[in-house]
Amino acid sequence: MKIAAVRCVEYTGTMDHPGAFWEERLIRPVDVYPHFAAQGPEYLPPSAPGSYRMTSIFVHIETDEGVTGTAGPIRGDQAYLVLTQIAPLLVGQDALATEYLWDVMYRYLVHGRKGVPMLALSAVDCALWDLRGRHFGVPVHVLLGGPTRDSIPAYASALGYSLETDSARERAAELVGQGFTAMKWFPRHGPVDGKAGERATIALVAALREAVGADVDIMVDAWMSWDVPYTLRMAQRLAEYAPRWIEEPVLPDKPAAYAEIARRMPNGIEVSGGEHEYTRWGLHQLMAAGAMHIYQPDTYWAGGISEMVKIATLASAYDVRLIPHGHSVPANANLSFALPPTLTPLLEYLVKWNVINQWFLEHPVHPVDGQVSPPTQPGLGMDLDQDKIEGRRELAFT
Ligand SMILES: [Mg+2]
Repeated sequence: MKIAAVRCVEYTGTMDHPGAFWEERLIRPVDVYPHFAAQGPEYLPPSAPGSYRMTSIFVHIETDEGVTGTAGPIRGDQAYLVLTQIAPLLVGQDALATEYLWDVMYRYLVHGRKGVPMLALSAVDCALWDLRGRHFGVPVHVLLGGPTRDSIPAYASALGYSLETDSARERAAELVGQGFTAMKWFPRHGPVDGKAGERATIALVAALREAVGADVDIMVDAWMSWDVPYTLRMAQRLAEYAPRWIEEPVLPDKPAAYAEIARRMPNGIEVSGGEHEYTRWGLHQLMAAGAMHIYQPDTYWAGGISEMVKIATLASAYDVRLIPHGHSVPANANLSFALPPTLTPLLEYLVKWNVINQWFLEHPVHPVDGQVSPPTQPGLGMDLDQDKIEGRRELAFT
């Protein structure tokens, strides 16, 4: 079965949503500069009151036997690389030879070991796994030796929700009511925000703990925007609210800083990260440094299903956990159901991003009572919902 064509198509549709979809955003490393810090949560402005124009790009890999693999959504800069750099490597090749194709892409994109080219490679690898599953008529977790269990608890990532304490308290209780036993929140404040920022983060976590009670896990994501002393001080001050982990306190280029945080974290609080690191080699450097307790590479960013299997093997050898970042729940669910619960105890579910990232999917994977079941669709279940598609435009770059 040969690859006949690689296409990137931009689909558009309409989502009805009363009020602002994004109420708040996360802190970013660049927010140390005031004019960046002042920017609001403008990821997705409404196109009309109560109505949002949805735009997603998917990559489709077609074969001479009529089987097509799909991955997405991807960004425009990834699509550019897929079409101009990667597609010529794939057309005419054996569509099932994923290890060969991964190695060819990796060796060809020598400036692409990290960052956007690796995101493009990752999406192509996921499309090839979708194709492979469709060819054999089974979900990818079955191809990988799963399922390892009947369900996986999802944790709710509350990115985009207001951080006002009353609102956060209400949302946290709603998430518990939906069956979630763990949730992650994203404070807006870091070292440059001084004592007032520290107080705001502590008030947020205190309100969350009050809302969810003692038995629900709360996690805090600093999105690479804290530093070592700030993280250790915040961990000490937050310890009475028993956060399960503090995520990405610093940029992934600082394994020694992570290792110091991991060694000195108080009261059993763990440190997690790695969603902005790539491939077995990047993750291995962090693991060898003892940087984290929990590693969170993204299946759609770190090298695709093929590479995540290798990263999972490394994580098991280092006896750390692998809880992939949640860009694609269908991909992560298929991977996670092929890994043991000791290695991958949780699945990330970004509540708002999943409205967007799974908008055009006919078979989106959502938790029920806080649990995700083994996917049943062939491949990665990437059929698009034709009823949601109002427009389509095939991308081409010359
Ligand atoms: Mg994160």
